[in-house]
Amino acid sequence: MKSAAMRGTGLGAISYENERQAEAPECEIVRYACLFGHQSVIPFSIEAEEIPPTWMCRCGREAAAVSKVPKMAFFTTAEPRVHRTHWDMLLERRTIADLQELLTERLALLHNQGADEQRLSA
Ligand SMILES: [Zn+2]
Repeated sequence: MKSAAMRGTGLGAISYENERQAEAPECEIVRYACLFGHQSVIPFSIEAEEIPPTWMCRCGREAAAVSKVPKMAFFTTAEPRVHRTHWDMLLERRTIADLQELLTERLALLHNQGADEQRLSA
């Protein structure tokens, strides 16, 4: 079996027809990022009619193209994606009230530590 036949590809990712025709096709590298920050770097033939604005991430979620998208139309037709920050993700796990409680707890601990150190050095 030829090694090319063993290579796995995503569904609909690559046209096998193009792969056979061109020996070294020029590529457009598109980087996709899902909401969890996973990055997928997908090469597309420059002959590809359309670079998809989203890609299925390995975690199963939709990843949005974040760089090297040649056609600006993708940004105008695709829904704008908001990339989550660490803060956004934190807020999904905890409420502000939770965070305030934790902060108070940690500050109290730090104050106590500071007091202990002062006592020891005195
Ligand atoms: Zn992902």
